[in-house]
Amino acid sequence: MNYNADIAVLGGGASGLIAAITAKRLNPNLSVYIFEALDRVGKKLITTGNGRCNITNLNLDLSRFHGQDVSFCEYALSRFGFSETKDFFYSIGVDFTAEGDKVYPASLQASSVVDALRFECERIGVNTVLNCKIEDICFGKEYILLSSEHSVSAKALILASGLFSGGDKVGSCGNVFRLLKNDGFKTVKVSPSLVQLKTETDFVRQLKGIKSIAKATLLCGNKPVCSYTDEVLFCDYGLSGPAILQISRQSGRDDKEYFVSLDLYPDLNNDALALRIKERAKMFGGRTLEEFFVGSLNKRLAQVVLKYCGYKLSDYASSLNDNDFVRIAEALKNFKFKVLSNTGFINSQVSAGGISTNEFDNKTLMSKRYNRLFAAGELLDIDGDCGGFNLSWAWASGAIAAESAVNSL
Ligand SMILES: Cc1cc2nc3c(=O)[nH]c(=O)nc-3n(C[C@H](O)[C@H](O)[C@H](O)COP(=O)(O)OP(=O)(O)OC[C@H]3O[C@@H](n4cnc5c(N)ncnc54)[C@H](O)[C@@H]3O)c2cc1C
Repeated sequence: MNYNADIAVLGGGASGLIAAITAKRLNPNLSVYIFEALDRVGKKLITTGNGRCNITNLNLDLSRFHGQDVSFCEYALSRFGFSETKDFFYSIGVDFTAEGDKVYPASLQASSVVDALRFECERIGVNTVLNCKIEDICFGKEYILLSSEHSVSAKALILASGLFSGGDKVGSCGNVFRLLKNDGFKTVKVSPSLVQLKTETDFVRQLKGIKSIAKATLLCGNKPVCSYTDEVLFCDYGLSGPAILQISRQSGRDDKEYFVSLDLYPDLNNDALALRIKERAKMFGGRTLEEFFVGSLNKRLAQVVLKYCGYKLSDYASSLNDNDFVRIAEALKNFKFKVLSNTGFINSQVSAGGISTNEFDNKTLMSKRYNRLFAAGELLDIDGDCGGFNLSWAWASGAIAAESAVNSL
């Protein structure tokens, strides 16, 4: 089948859906098409936020975004920040609710966000072509997109195809990234971010399934890179949980040696913790070390940390002296694991890196190589922290790219 579009949007994910709606609303006379590889739009969106969709964040500070030139996203986020996002979703029937800074649809259903976007596309006349994986793009005065069954001719093209995170099931095949790279677009190394870390397993494996609040710090050698305090989940392969996802980014970016240090008592400094342990030893001297931390820390976790610093669990707390209190406090505040790798793109929430932002104008999101070619979302070298930042970038860049595409025609 042949299609002629004023504006073709390649990819019916977060950034593509908002781009198509924005373009069609701005000029209802334009023919706007979404070409989507999968049999439904928004398949990744449905899986976001554990099915609840952490749709944005109340505090879209630039420090929560990353990329070689992170200032690139400043303009789009200033034009389409929290209140514009809220207004847009209100206009398609999605109310917001917040948990701390994290914002969710009031329904707490990611599927309702996809439905509302889909209904709006239908209502205003955005054409959606499903099962249409674009395999080739001819860049020129007009854009020709080719799939195995379709040929598309478009005056303006918005690339909204994402990258590799989440895998093929949610449409993250990355082939548009490869097409652009082959055409000579500069790229920035792509690696999984917001991802579980594989570590040495001697101790984590014994703790499989245990969750604990900790301050997790990523260390490059001995140098702290970043820290985050939240839940940590011990797994047979390494470490997971929100605190680990949040600090995972840099460890996949180069071949340096990385460690994760867990501070299991983030509210106490070393001296205060040593004193607290001393106090407990006085109170519970008759307990073996196996039972010593009961009620203060997960029992198994405490046992493994004590083994980690060389104690026998059958010894009595009364046998501990001042040096022991200091040593145990140090171990509890620096339970350290060497990072071996991560669990890959398929398990990651976002891909760091992408098409270099130098290739696009930061105000219009138009290519510096080709007229009326725009890019939005994860495909570009911008990624965010956990907490609604990645979708915020998708909404902002999709809306701005669409506005520029309409203005370019
Ligand atoms: C499990 C999981 C949970 C997440 N949770 C959150 C969260 O709660 N909050 C948050 O802010 N972020 C979250 N993210 C990240 C967020 O979903 C992404 O950053 C965001 O969806 C990126 O939007 P996008 O439009 O760039 O790409 P996508 O949403 O990935 O959309 C790209 C679309 O393009 C289509 N496509 C790709 N190639 C082609 C092709 N060649 N031809 C045609 N179509 C193509 C794909 O099928 C897909 O539908 C999560 C990610 C995952 C994997």
